[in-house]
Amino acid sequence: MKYISTRGQAPALSFEEVVLTGLAPDGGLYVPESLPEFSRDEIASWAGLSYEELAFKVVSPFVDGAVPDADLKKIIADSYSTFRHKAIAPLVQTGHNEFILELFQGPTLAFKDFALQFLGNLLDYILKKRDQKVVVMGATSGDTGSAAIEGCRHCDNIDIFILHPHNRVSNVQRRQMTTVLEDNVHNVALDGNFDDCQNMVKASFADQSFLPEGRQLVAVNSINWARIMAQIVYYFYASLALGGPARPVSFSVPTGNFGDIFAGYLAKRMGLPIDQLVIATNSNDILHRAISANDLSKQQLEHTLSPSMDIMVSSNFERMLFDLYDRDGAKIAQMMEDFKTGAMHLDPKALERARELFASHRVDDERMLEVIRDVFENTEYLLDPHTAIGVEAARVTRRRQDVPMVCLATAHPAKFPEAVQKAGQTEDPALPHHMADLFEREERYEVLPHDAETVHKFMAGHLAC
Ligand SMILES: *Cc1c(COP(=O)(O)O)cnc(C)c1O
Repeated sequence: MKYISTRGQAPALSFEEVVLTGLAPDGGLYVPESLPEFSRDEIASWAGLSYEELAFKVVSPFVDGAVPDADLKKIIADSYSTFRHKAIAPLVQTGHNEFILELFQGPTLAFKDFALQFLGNLLDYILKKRDQKVVVMGATSGDTGSAAIEGCRHCDNIDIFILHPHNRVSNVQRRQMTTVLEDNVHNVALDGNFDDCQNMVKASFADQSFLPEGRQLVAVNSINWARIMAQIVYYFYASLALGGPARPVSFSVPTGNFGDIFAGYLAKRMGLPIDQLVIATNSNDILHRAISANDLSKQQLEHTLSPSMDIMVSSNFERMLFDLYDRDGAKIAQMMEDFKTGAMHLDPKALERARELFASHRVDDERMLEVIRDVFENTEYLLDPHTAIGVEAARVTRRRQDVPMVCLATAHPAKFPEAVQKAGQTEDPALPHHMADLFEREERYEVLPHDAETVHKFMAGHLAC
């Protein structure tokens, strides 16, 4: 399987190469040249497989022999052995035909563990085979950083540097990153906001000359194809648990960078009968405006109680545009260039296609808090703020009561005590057992100014592997 850029100007890459890179040199994102498709019968034959067995079935056509089957199975097994719940992605019912898919059973309590535990192990395997060392660099507003650190902490050939905005992530989120004390883990608190962190990372990828000879930067945000790939699996898993593929299932996805829901779209293209795919946004609603009003214009970023969805421009939407425009790379390059200075509008055919594929809804903080309260009153089940947005969007946009609606629970409520308290809970939700002593653990991080030279000097001077 080859991987091509959404802007059509970069050479195609192998699976191994695509895992080890970030953006394509033409500024695009990599996607598989073609998608594997599974028949209904084949999918039906997977009923009853464990999460790990199913992951192998779904992922192996993309890997396409680049990792031998036995090794791929071991990478998958290792990646999900760190999850607390034996089902890996358990379902909980919260209403008539309404289910919560708990994607927060991994080490850092957010769904990002599904992709980043896998990516860490995959990178470790590939790098050992190639006898190569790399530097992982990323910016985080919260959940990505800790999941990436947990994914890479035991990798011998990786130094990981995660930049977070100083004093602007929650205490739980910061401590999940800064209490990991392995030598190859480097936390930088940057004086600035999340955009400053992200710009610093972008500039570093553009000019990597500060690194020693032979080292390169690797991206672990959701522009990395392997992350999207790993996320396709749980759509199949939930569907099979609820009577698929004989019966269609719908999904509602709290959306920020469009990575998670894009994986759902791929599952559908690969043959999984999905009725509705609901894009749930908070007040940063560019994707909802895009679908409902054909308005893809940047607006001022709002800080909400669902911070992991506080994103102005969703980078993975470019992968979707590529398909909406029949994979016309030149067209996408032109649209993204125009978008830099203004807004984007879909042409009628692309818009119609997008509306056939996705429903969308926007939920503000006030309504989100009501939903946490309402679901707790009726079921004693406590939602995190991101998940609550997905539940509300599902309830508003749902068109068929006879089709199971699966709401993706992207984080554990204990990660967001502020929102949960505002929703009327008198006590903070308890952290799971393995994190109960989080606030007693030693922290290590470096506060650095928003200055590329200082950050690069720090990085070059602290490589541990
Ligand atoms: C990252 C994240 C999201 C958004 O996911 P995307 O793939 O960026 O759309 C939603 N909820 C939580 C808790 C997250 O950490």
